[in-house]
Amino acid sequence: MTDFRIGFGYDSHRLADGLPLRLGGIDIASERGCVAHSDGDAAIHALCDALLGAAALGDIGTHFPDTDPAFKGIDSTLLLQKTVGLLQQQGWQVNNADLTIVLERPKLKDYKPLIQKKLAELLLIADDQVSVKAKTNEGMGFLGRGEGVAVAVAVTIKR
Ligand code: MG
Repeated sequence: MTDFRIGFGYDSHRLADGLPLRLGGIDIASERGCVAHSDGDAAIHALCDALLGAAALGDIGTHFPDTDPAFKGIDSTLLLQKTVGLLQQQGWQVNNADLTIVLERPKLKDYKPLIQKKLAELLLIADDQVSVKAKTNEGMGFLGRGEGVAVAVAVTIKR
């Protein structure tokens, strides 16, 4: 009998002029990027939280505290690999991941397939087990003013 879990994750980061923007392990051409302790990859942070949540293994702050200098400027793809490893230790494998990225600009249309492929590699699953959706916030609130990026993620895992 298969043990099956659902997890949900959310992350947001402040954006500022002249900083790099990376989402889902992919560098995005943008005039504004993330202000963060790590590389600011909100898509991967939300994904890690969704995975940890599904396995009831705490949250990203528990495992990779932003007060720890070891994680300063860290490539978030490494955090995702470590997270997948934590789940594997408990016998879990990822079944699927579904991401929604909310960013006013730039438009992510051309980046979505790249992010999908990158995350599938990191999650050790096929491309069609990863869904990447992108939308704007229609000009409303902090997201709509381009002050930040937010990402919501649902995952399922099984063992
Ligand atoms: Mg974060």
